Amino acid sequence: MARYQAPRGTQDVLPEDQPYWRWVLGVAHDVAARYGFQPIEVPVFEETEVFVRGVGTGTDIVEKEMYTFEDRGGRSLTLRPEFTAGIVRAYIEHGMRVRPQPVKLYAVGPVFRYEAPQAGRYRQHTQISCECIGEADPLADFEIMCMAWDLYAALGFQAVQFQLNSIGCPRCRPPYIRDVLVPYLRSRREELNALDVERLQKNPLRVLDTKEPESQAVVNEAPSITAHLCPECSEHFAQLRFYLDMLERPYELNPRLVRGLDYYTRTVFEVTAQGLGAQNAVGGGGRYDGLVEVLGGPPTPGVGFAAGIERIVLALKAQGAVPPPLPAPQVFFVHRGRLAKDAAVALADQVRRRGLGALVAFGERSVKAQMRQASKAGAEYVVIIGDDELAHGEVQVKHLDTGRQEAVVQAELVAWLHKRLTAAHSAP
Ligand code: AMP
Repeated sequence: MARYQAPRGTQDVLPEDQPYWRWVLGVAHDVAARYGFQPIEVPVFEETEVFVRGVGTGTDIVEKEMYTFEDRGGRSLTLRPEFTAGIVRAYIEHGMRVRPQPVKLYAVGPVFRYEAPQAGRYRQHTQISCECIGEADPLADFEIMCMAWDLYAALGFQAVQFQLNSIGCPRCRPPYIRDVLVPYLRSRREELNALDVERLQKNPLRVLDTKEPESQAVVNEAPSITAHLCPECSEHFAQLRFYLDMLERPYELNPRLVRGLDYYTRTVFEVTAQGLGAQNAVGGGGRYDGLVEVLGGPPTPGVGFAAGIERIVLALKAQGAVPPPLPAPQVFFVHRGRLAKDAAVALADQVRRRGLGALVAFGERSVKAQMRQASKAGAEYVVIIGDDELAHGEVQVKHLDTGRQEAVVQAELVAWLHKRLTAAHSAP
């Protein structure tokens, strides 16, 4: 066993897994661009307050999952547990409200949550997070969901499920909670799990998405918030569903899907995939019309979505998806003799300067062993140089797929390779 291991809940993404990652990230960047989202980078850590206010004190994240530390200057900082709060902080800080609205931003990178590690749940995971800030139109909610849809579809996902709910706004949610939900939950209090009885005191809405088995019967029969939305929220929800239906994006209404904070408004959705076991959420999002204000900006609507790359990769593997391979150096130099090796080093340098990939065999192994290395390295062409051929100003070039071999004048080798390797697709 190695003396040191990656910290609990973290993992190394080894070269053999990188094709999946490149694939997913490539598709994510393409989809974001197609919807007019611009990339942004925000720091890996922020002032703790940004997350306490921006994610919310009633959440699991803030209550028990943040990596918070004091820096040497005595400031309280926190490793980002999600992107939205930091992106909204940047939107406010850089006065982006004077830009044409909405401002559509997306970011990709690691986020940190002190969770109990298990399959598909890590303490460091990677998110792509898309935020559309400054637009209240339900079309913005639709676009965000559609983008998520396109992301999974472009990766060939089979059977993703979209669950959708509306949790209203600060005008209609409190009366629903106070006059409808709480009295109902209280009336069946004895049937609830102890944790949910506690939630009923602190944040009753969260009882709805409880995972506790004993509480299921009670929450399944709970009166749903969508029957108690104000006319504006109701209209917003209807319009979003109209777009989803019009473009045939299937979803399931789930009145138990919630985010228990005041500044999350209206739309909430979650995307689940098969083959992941308990941790089957591959993405989720919703509207946060109160968030900009909570972080010190002017009232500004917003809606966003985040997807977890690790779980997407796990799901792709479970579905047997094959990612496009990463490019390997196209040319491998095999040499026999001292002068030949020096020539190979110089030629490889020229090949690389032309923008192609080239490898030279290390050491002085047999030609046969070097040929094996070339094919393991995934090269397309092998250039074989011997001291004898050099004397004639020639090298042998072998196309590994076809086995075809020919002599090429050494001075013309780089142009010869460049022509073949940059043609539509390199024919031998
Ligand atoms: P959330 O902000 O919790 O909605 O997370 C957005 C997405 O990130 C989820 O749908 C998951 O795909 C992914 N995710 C969240 N937490 C974890 C975790 N601990 N480990 C791996 N992926 C996660």
